[in-house]
Amino acid sequence: MTGAPGSRVVAIDGPAGSGKSTVARAVADALGVDVLDTGAMYRAVTIKVLDAGIDPTDAEAVTQVAEGADIVLTDVVELDGRDVTDEIRSPAVNAAVSTVSAHPGVRRVLIAQQRKWAEMHGGGVAEGRDMGAVVFPDAPLKVFLTASPDERARRRSGDETAASIAQRDGRDVPSTLEPTADAFVLDTTGMSVAEVVAAIVGRLPEARRADLLGESQSESESA
Ligand code: C5P
Repeated sequence: MTGAPGSRVVAIDGPAGSGKSTVARAVADALGVDVLDTGAMYRAVTIKVLDAGIDPTDAEAVTQVAEGADIVLTDVVELDGRDVTDEIRSPAVNAAVSTVSAHPGVRRVLIAQQRKWAEMHGGGVAEGRDMGAVVFPDAPLKVFLTASPDERARRRSGDETAASIAQRDGRDVPSTLEPTADAFVLDTTGMSVAEVVAAIVGRLPEARRADLLGESQSESESA
């Protein structure tokens, strides 16, 4: 299929602890498509910035680092050939990632890679910030997940404390934490992952679902 890179993407946005990563993976499994964790990309650039001893507020130097970073996302996260799957969750990265990701140059570089990923993979599920608003404005389904502060604190990933998550939200560019007007906003408080996935998949209009899955699969489904 031709068209914009987002035309076969399910875009999932939401704040930290909203369950994005878990839900994105489960939706991708349900649809039989690939998943892109864009937060891992910003985190990988942050590692490279910190390793180089660069000031995270230095827009020019940080953008140069982003341009030179070779990030490969498979089951693991690789930065310049090194497995950084665990390191991207470190307290040092949690503390600096909002500053690094606020630079327009960094966003430009990583957003181009995210669109490329969608092209190469023929679509998929993309999760992070700005997915529906900026990266894939033509996505057939945009989801914005929320959850109560208590539930978000319970779901926090790794060792990150609720206070650290709140600080990160406070530092993140506000526009990346707003749902678009056409987003399906879902408060997942008290919902199981299976319930959230069913709600999301149920929102995919039939025609668009065929688009997303590709013609051969939708034909065999209806046969
Ligand atoms: O999703 P995750 O919590 O791993 O994202 C880490 C940080 O990366 C966010 O707090 C935000 O600063 C940044 N980010 C972003 N745009 C994205 C994904 C993540 O700015 N698409």
